[in-house]
Amino acid sequence: MIACKCQVCLSSNKNDKRLRSSILIRSTQAVVVIDTTPDFRYQMLRSKVDHLDAVVFTHSHKDHIGGLDDIRAYNFFSQRPMALFANEETAFALKRDFYYAFSENKYPGIPELDLHVQDGEPFRVADLLFQPIHVRHLNMGVSGYRIGDFTYITDANYIEEKELDKIRGSKILVINALRQEKHLSHFTLQEAIDLATELNIPQTYFTHISHQMGMHEKVNEGLPKGMKLAHDGLIIEVKNHAKD
Ligand SMILES: [Zn+2]
Ligand SMILES: [Zn+2]
Repeated sequence: MIACKCQVCLSSNKNDKRLRSSILIRSTQAVVVIDTTPDFRYQMLRSKVDHLDAVVFTHSHKDHIGGLDDIRAYNFFSQRPMALFANEETAFALKRDFYYAFSENKYPGIPELDLHVQDGEPFRVADLLFQPIHVRHLNMGVSGYRIGDFTYITDANYIEEKELDKIRGSKILVINALRQEKHLSHFTLQEAIDLATELNIPQTYFTHISHQMGMHEKVNEGLPKGMKLAHDGLIIEVKNHAKD
């Protein structure tokens, strides 16, 4: 955190250094990013991502959409608009916050975007089938996504029973756990552990971690079997990603 001098912010362990939360999914036919954070440009440079087919959004908070302008580098090299998928509320915010990319008379060099509104029904990007999962982030509706045996849920503090059913059977779950103490719009570590336990997920990773969580190594050691803190640069292999 900017200007913070806590032990996590001063830590020399690279796993205590976190950029904003997003993931990149790579299959045989597609490369997709979930969310363009304000760190998007650096994240793509750092991971040397030279091709992107689509962006899928979870919600409209700035830490999840702020980096969208930098999509123009991919427009430049691919010579085509970038496919975006977002729920209605998020699509509205994208058009408002990046109005110039959606205007009639476009200034040259601005991002070229092809926005698709997902209505909660599954949608496809090449061989990847995305099943949206509706979760709640205080009073905001957020889209989590299940892709085959893999489920990604960031920014949630409540999930309805019928949406939990969409997660059940996942082999890998990535879910937000902000810190140990109660928070109004994010699961705490214990709440996330309880959820993963209830859902009987074999391997769970916690993401969207605040510096208030404590030191990565120490927190990690205390987690139940099959659960870990995620960290920047983590690579997870998913066997079944294209299940219908
Ligand atoms: Zn949020
Ligand atoms: Zn967030």
